[in-house]
Amino acid sequence: MYHYSPFRDNYTKEKPNEACVFCDEKQMQKQAIFYPDGTTVENKHYRWIINAFPKFEGHTLLIPKRHIEDLGFETKEELADKEELIRIATCALRELYKGAGIEFFAQIGEASARSRRHLHFHIVPAQPDDPLRSFEKLGHYYPTKPNEEKVVIFPIEIKLAKEKLQDALRRALKNCPR
Ligand SMILES: [Zn+2]
Repeated sequence: MYHYSPFRDNYTKEKPNEACVFCDEKQMQKQAIFYPDGTTVENKHYRWIINAFPKFEGHTLLIPKRHIEDLGFETKEELADKEELIRIATCALRELYKGAGIEFFAQIGEASARSRRHLHFHIVPAQPDDPLRSFEKLGHYYPTKPNEEKVVIFPIEIKLAKEKLQDALRRALKNCPR
């Protein structure tokens, strides 16, 4: 059984000269995750955001604020800030998806299946009965037309995309230490 996923209808792969979406402050605010007091989940060097084009339930991303394209270029301060948000994101995802494990993915370098050059880490809940496991979640797609990049049909129904996920995480974060 497959589900139509309208969330990816407008997804396009990054073109060589396209402005970086993860460096676009306005766009990052739209995808922000908020604490119950309305402040965004970010620190000096990193932010935690909703994936605007989710491929599965609870699809979130950790993004360095500086445009970095590879591993090994983060400063000690950036690495520390990333660790802090991993801890907060893990707590909130486990509060929201009870009993979930956490999967943390990155696709690095030209030769990988990355679709954005700006370094980013997928952080998602995982359950033993997920129809897609681990990296299958990122690589799996059914094009609707030949040569089309869009992903519109999934073996899982995504219930909490964008606004609903933002609301649910905001509530979950009240139980997480900052
Ligand atoms: Zn960037």
